[in-house]
Amino acid sequence: MSEVCTTPAVLILLGPPGAGKGTQARMLEETLGLIQLSTGDLLRAAVAAGTPAGMAAKSVMEAGGLVSDEIVLEILRDRMMQPDVQSGVILDGFPRTDVQASALDLLLAETGQGVSLAISLEVDDEAMVARVAGRHTCAKCGEGYHDTFKRPTNGACDKCGGTEFKRRSDDNADTARQRLATYHAQTAPLIAHYAGAGVLRRLDAMQDIAAVSRDLTRMVEPVIR
Ligand code: ADP
Ligand code: ADP
Ligand code: ZN
Repeated sequence: MSEVCTTPAVLILLGPPGAGKGTQARMLEETLGLIQLSTGDLLRAAVAAGTPAGMAAKSVMEAGGLVSDEIVLEILRDRMMQPDVQSGVILDGFPRTDVQASALDLLLAETGQGVSLAISLEVDDEAMVARVAGRHTCAKCGEGYHDTFKRPTNGACDKCGGTEFKRRSDDNADTARQRLATYHAQTAPLIAHYAGAGVLRRLDAMQDIAAVSRDLTRMVEPVIR
């Protein structure tokens, strides 16, 4: 009798701040049952909890720089050990440096895995500053919204009915520009890393949220079946 080998999918969403990584990862979680793994969310949780890693990360995040590879890799490894990630993950905001990409390749190789698909969300820089500056999330369930592009109906969260929303302290125009520069200098080169590995796909993420989701689902479905 032949055994069916089910290797969990490892998807990466690449793209600058505001490209739509978090929005799309949450949608894929709902539609395809994958787990979103956002290093930004994990780091913000560490900052809020006041852990040593969080305390070291706080000022770097506020300045729009990158938290050290060492801290990010430790946080990511811990999260990847949790049982719920065994059915497949969407990495949102990781890797962001060459060192992180190589560490991920090694970590996956330990269990005979590799990156299934790295999708580059391609956008214009100036539009990204406006996306970041208008971003807010539901304080209760974390659903993402935008002042112009995705407003909560009648001021209440479409997902949970919550009426309180929060904004990130780093989501201002100045820090957004700094984060874009950081992206171009340190993260955009990873596009070539994944092209070389034969797993890169490019997606026009200037389209509206629904159109990006449609294109993304078409790319992802074949690799998770
Ligand atoms: P990222 O995780 O890449 O930083 P988000 O998913 O948080 O980006 O999106 C940034 C902001 O832009 C949010 O306010 C979100 O509602 C909005 N947004 C996301 N995708 C689009 C899109 N395709 N068109 C317009 N606005 C978008
Ligand atoms: P965005 O999607 O808007 O770029 P994130 O929530 O992914 O924002 O990240 C917020 C901040 O957290 C980044 O500006 C950076 O300081 C830090 N961060 C998140 N992920 C990483 C990572 N993989 N490596 C280094 N720093 C990170
Ligand atoms: Zn909500």
